[in-house]
Amino acid sequence: MPVCTLIIVTGLPTSGKTTRARQLYAYLESRIGSSSSSVSPDSLSNSPPPQQAEPQQQSQPPSQPTSPPSTPQLQTKTTTSPHYRLHYISDTTLSISRTVYDLSPENLPAHVRSANALEKDARAAVYAAVKRVLSPRDIVVLDGLNYIKGWRYQLFCEAKNARTASCVLQVGCSVDRARGVNEGRLKRQEEKRAKKEKATEDAASSAEAEAADGKPADDDPEQEPYTPSNWENLVFRYEEPNAMTRWDSPLFTLVWDDDEAQTRQVFAQIWDAVAGEGAAKRVIRPNQSTVQRDKDPGGDYLYVLERETQDIVKQILARQPEDGGGGEVRVPRAGSGGSSSGRAGQDEEELVVHLPGKKVGLPQLQRYRRAFVGLNRGGIGLEAVGKLAAERLRESFVGYLNDAFEKDG
Ligand code: ADP
Ligand code: MG
Repeated sequence: MPVCTLIIVTGLPTSGKTTRARQLYAYLESRIGSSSSSVSPDSLSNSPPPQQAEPQQQSQPPSQPTSPPSTPQLQTKTTTSPHYRLHYISDTTLSISRTVYDLSPENLPAHVRSANALEKDARAAVYAAVKRVLSPRDIVVLDGLNYIKGWRYQLFCEAKNARTASCVLQVGCSVDRARGVNEGRLKRQEEKRAKKEKATEDAASSAEAEAADGKPADDDPEQEPYTPSNWENLVFRYEEPNAMTRWDSPLFTLVWDDDEAQTRQVFAQIWDAVAGEGAAKRVIRPNQSTVQRDKDPGGDYLYVLERETQDIVKQILARQPEDGGGGEVRVPRAGSGGSSSGRAGQDEEELVVHLPGKKVGLPQLQRYRRAFVGLNRGGIGLEAVGKLAAERLRESFVGYLNDAFEKDG
């Protein structure tokens, strides 16, 4: 089984993708460092060598000294080790501006062919950059919106072409919080501009004006805000990853409030997917990251809703009897992947799904799931209480399914 060396980061605009991607980069860097001595040559000989034709396909090694793990230099795109090379690719490293995503006609440069031509060009650039380096030994952290299903599918196929595989890291963040981040950036940009104008007006203090003028390089492109309409539109266009599809799995999720322990746990799972330890027994589980979180703020409710319902669907598919329908299936009551605190009392730990007369398939289950998610999108008071919310959602979804199956006969 190929290992996943392409890690596609996805999430809403200004939702914390770069923050997580940097952390992941640093984490992988340290794992690569510590594993280089422990990986046996045998295990490596199993993986095909990088097979690209051009020998100089690797990115240049860091031109600056490697920075400490907590703040990897993002312009430094490659870390090498005897066994893996680590790459970081993002819009910023490719000098792609946020404006390429802007589809509003009034913001379109005159010479541009069509509304999304710039975005298409940008995607082509990203694609080329990924393709240039990707191999079973080249780990790529692809930081970006990656919000189009079809685009993630293309990347998935490209990984296959390079005889490796992809995985997705979804950065979950409520729309309001992400919007707040963008608004903050817009405000700061506006303040800067005002300051600069004022300095220019006060021609007397020309030195100050010069100082302000002479600092465009100071503007971190990473902090560049989206125009409000661009931002809203991107959120509208965003296509959530779906762990049930090949191209979005394995799917890992981190939400804004995930603490260091939780983050490390998810990163460790990613490393496992990357380095192939236990790859043979690896099952693709959609919800590996929902492990016992003590509090999920209300803003993450939708993610919990998605994850828990997807997990139930997965469990039903995996556990229903092979032959014919009917009977019941038991699924854990606790949040997906979460080992519930007290293991006592099997019955209390499980929810019972009463299957209909005939075998249920994925499309049918997904239909119900979507309907349920649609019904509960607005929240029904379940969103308040973290781990309990996950359990109540699961319970509620199982109840919904039982009703639906009963009606189906
Ligand atoms: P994106 O890459 O999705 O646009 P960034 O990673 O640049 O988002 O994050 C936007 C802002 O939010 C940054 O100022 C960052 O410091 C902050 N931020 C991101 N993730 C978190 C988090 N998990 N906890 C606290 N602050 C965060
Ligand atoms: Mg970013």
